[in-house]
Amino acid sequence: MKKTKYIFVTGGVTSSLGKGIISASLAKLLQARGYSVTIQKFDPYINIDPGTLNPYEHGECFVTDDGAETDLDLGHYERFLNVSTSQANNVTTGRIYQAVINKERKGDYLGKTVQIIPHITDEIKRRMKLLGKTEQYDVIITEIGGTIGDIESLPYIETVRQLKWELGQDALVIHLTLVPYLAASGELKTKPTQHSVKLMLENGVQPDVLVLRTEHPLNDDIKRKVALFCNVKPSSVIESIDVSTIYEVPIKMCQEKLDETVLEKLNLPLKNKPELTDWKKFLDILENPKSEVNVALVGKYVELHDAYKSIAESLLHAGVANESKVKIHWTHSEQITDENIAEKLSNMDGVLVAPGFGHRGIDGKLIAIKYVRENNIPFLGICLGMQCAVIEFARNVLNLHDAHSTEMNRRTTQPVIDLMEEQKNVLDMGGTMRLGAYPCRVSESSHVFEAYKTDFIKERHRHRYEFNNKYLKDFENAGMIGTGVNPDTQLIEIVEIPQHKWFVGVQFHPEYKSTVLNPHPIFVEFIKASLGHKNSRVE
Ligand code: GLN
Repeated sequence: MKKTKYIFVTGGVTSSLGKGIISASLAKLLQARGYSVTIQKFDPYINIDPGTLNPYEHGECFVTDDGAETDLDLGHYERFLNVSTSQANNVTTGRIYQAVINKERKGDYLGKTVQIIPHITDEIKRRMKLLGKTEQYDVIITEIGGTIGDIESLPYIETVRQLKWELGQDALVIHLTLVPYLAASGELKTKPTQHSVKLMLENGVQPDVLVLRTEHPLNDDIKRKVALFCNVKPSSVIESIDVSTIYEVPIKMCQEKLDETVLEKLNLPLKNKPELTDWKKFLDILENPKSEVNVALVGKYVELHDAYKSIAESLLHAGVANESKVKIHWTHSEQITDENIAEKLSNMDGVLVAPGFGHRGIDGKLIAIKYVRENNIPFLGICLGMQCAVIEFARNVLNLHDAHSTEMNRRTTQPVIDLMEEQKNVLDMGGTMRLGAYPCRVSESSHVFEAYKTDFIKERHRHRYEFNNKYLKDFENAGMIGTGVNPDTQLIEIVEIPQHKWFVGVQFHPEYKSTVLNPHPIFVEFIKASLGHKNSRVE
C-alpha cells in the first residue's frame, strides 16, 4: 500500500503572498522528480463553494471536470501540473459545517454535544486525508486559505496540529511569510516573520520550512536570524523573490532547493533531478517572443484581472504556442458606445468577449460584437460572450429586433437564448447550473475542427441558458452555423460564421483546460488568426 505524505502550506503576515503559486511550484518540482502529487485547498469561508460569490469578492470561479465550482488557485494547480483536479480538491468551512450538521440531524453523534473539537476538526481531517485513500498520490499538498491569526482559520490550524502529531515524519508544514523592505532605512525586516511563527506556535504548530516572500535578495545573515528565532535550520529558510511571471517560480524554488529540503524532511529519496526541459522552453519563449499581438478582452469585471484569471493565462499559453506575446487590452463593456467602438477596437488584432451573468454591460458587448463581425476582426466569445454573439446576429442580421436571452429580458418575444427545460424549476442558486465536462461533436469543416483536429471533444460548462434550437435553421440560412453540438441533448455548444475570418462562440469554457504544457487549441487558433489579421493589415 502506498504511503502518502502530507505537506501543509500556511500563510502569515498578510494575504496575497502567493501560497497557491508556491504550492503549485513545489508540486511541479516533485512531479518533475517522478512523484505523483496533487494539491487541495481548504478555504475558511462559510460559503459552500465560491459558485455564488461575486467575482469582485473572490476573483474567478474555476470549474473542474466533475463540475465543482472552486477557488481560482485550482486553476493554477492544473496549469502547473497538467493534471485534473476534482470536487475533493477544494473544501470550504461551509461544506465542513454542512456535513457535520447533516450528521447531527441524522442522529449520528448519538446524543453527544457537537463541538469544533473534535467534530469539526475530525471532518476537516477526514477530508484532508480523503485523496490519500485513493492511493494514487505519493504526496498531497494542502493549502490552507487565509492568514494565521484569522479566527476563521483556527479549526484548520488545529487540525494540522493534530495531523502532524498523528503522522509524524509523514507530514510537514511550510509557512509562507513576508519580509518587508523599509526603503527609509534600506533594511529588510524579519520581525513580522518572527511574530507570525509565534502565532503558529501559540496554536501548537512548529513550521518545518519557512518560505519568505521578498522584493530584495535575502543574505545568509537574514536567513540565519530567521532560523534562530523560528526553530528551523538556515537551510529550511527559503527565499521567494518577486519574479516577472508566476511560471518562473518553480525554477526559483528549485534553485533554492525547496524540493530537496522537503523530500529530506519527509524521508523520501531525491530520485532524479527535476525534468523541466519543456517548462524551460516555454519560459524561454515567454521571455523572448518573436512578435506581439493585441487582443481586447471585453468584460464587465475588467478592473479586477483575477475575475478572468484562466482566460488571461490561456491567452498567455496560446501566445507562447505562437511564439508571440499577447498584450491584453482590458476593455470595460459598460464604457463601450456606438461612438467610441472604432477607437477602442479598430487597432485590435483579436477580440474576446468574456463570460458573465446579468444585464450589466450587455449593450457594450453587443456593440463590440457587431463591430468585429462587420470588420472581419478575429473573435472569440466565451459562454455569455457566445450568447451575445447569437443575440447580436439575431437582431442585426436576422432582423429579430426583440431578440434577447431570457436571462436579461424574461418577456422577450424572440428568446434566442433561453433557459433549459430542467433549469426552469430550479430555486437554489448554488451548484445548480450546467456544470463540468460535457461531450460535443464538432463539424469537420469548421475553425474549431482545425483547432482540435478531432470531431469529438469534452469541455467544461458553467451556465443556465442555452442557444434556442427553434431558431437554428434561421441562423444557419443567414450564415451563423452550429459547428459543435452535444450528441446527447442536441444543444448547440459552438457557433461560427464561416464567411468571417475567424468568428467562434463557445458555450463552454475552454480557458479551464489550458495548461503550460497543453495550451488550449481554441486559444492557440484564435491567437494564430489574430496574428494573421495583424499581418494582413500591415501588408
Ligand atoms: N449567464 C449565462 C448563463 O447562465 C452565461 C454564463 C457564463 O458566461 N458563465 O447561461
